[in-house]
Amino acid sequence: MAEKALSLTASAGLAVYPEDGEAAEALVLNAGTALRHAKRLGRARVEAYEPGLDEHGLQRLTMVSLLRRACERDDFRFVAQPRVDVARRIVGYEVLVRWHSLELGWVSPAQFIPLAEENGLIDRIGRSAIRAAVRLATELRAAGRPAKVSVNLAAKQLQDPLLGEILLSELATSGASPEDLELEVTESGLVQDIEGAHRLLTQLRNEGFTLALDDFGTGYSSLSYLQTLPFHKVKLDRSFVKDVADDARAARLIAGVVDLCSALEMQVVAEGVETEGQFERLVALGTPEFQGFLFHRPLDFDAIARLPSSGRP
Ligand code: C2E
Ligand code: CA
Ligand code: CA
Repeated sequence: MAEKALSLTASAGLAVYPEDGEAAEALVLNAGTALRHAKRLGRARVEAYEPGLDEHGLQRLTMVSLLRRACERDDFRFVAQPRVDVARRIVGYEVLVRWHSLELGWVSPAQFIPLAEENGLIDRIGRSAIRAAVRLATELRAAGRPAKVSVNLAAKQLQDPLLGEILLSELATSGASPEDLELEVTESGLVQDIEGAHRLLTQLRNEGFTLALDDFGTGYSSLSYLQTLPFHKVKLDRSFVKDVADDARAARLIAGVVDLCSALEMQVVAEGVETEGQFERLVALGTPEFQGFLFHRPLDFDAIARLPSSGRP
């Protein structure tokens, strides 16, 4: 049998007698609260119990139960943010989920997607997102302006060996094909089972889907992913793009990533472009594709249908 290196991490929650509880039950309960807090903060750490953590837990509990109800009723909407080339022509769209709860108002997906992942609700949302992406791709084709439509895949969806079939069955009854869809995967979505991810991504690539590595540079072992996994594109996270106009080191880093990716025949997309200065610098560094508030905010599908075909607002 081949030798394998397994890397394990552990999190711990700390409750101290008698400050955090006089009875054993109270101590164990509070240590559990501290443990959940440690996992929320990114795992592999030790956190001590504080009274405020309970309140946080209660808010989470409320959000999870509202989220569960929203999943049952399919209460989500989808918008899409255009991506542009150096001439600012639209070349694609990223589908993003939106949730408005009567009790909580608008909740950011950055907040509820991780909760949905932890509580087994991501399947429903993920399936609706795929369906929305297929619908947009079909509408764009019917309007004679086909463009790649991206959809975000959560870690859990990547562990589903039926993902390919799900995608193909959504496409089967539509006017779109795998070539119209781009699948965005984050580094953290890959760490759990790299070999399984490799198999699945290779299968999806062979079916004709475009594959993009999302939030590049924010996770772990990015370079080994670039070497081993069959991505077409790399989406450079906003945290790198932010300083590109006025920080020479940030600019050099991006130039390096662009070179590296082009040597590996992968295309770089810069995310979160907000200023003309950032855009100019990114163009000068050789970035071919961009996404950000400078060009377009995420839009309703109706608003996308009304965009002029030049892509300019
Ligand atoms: P992401 O995949 O990195 O998506 C891009 C996020 O950056 C979106 O936030 C978008 O509105 C925001 N953004 C775009 N341009 C700019 C800019 O110029 N400046 C700034 N400050 N922000 C910009 P959003 O829609 O809040 O989504 C947050 C995250 O939630 C996404 O990050 C993605 O990880 C997750 N997400 C959203 N929709 C879905 C979905 O349908 N499925 C899954 N699994 N995750 C989703
Ligand atoms: Ca994304
Ligand atoms: Ca991203």
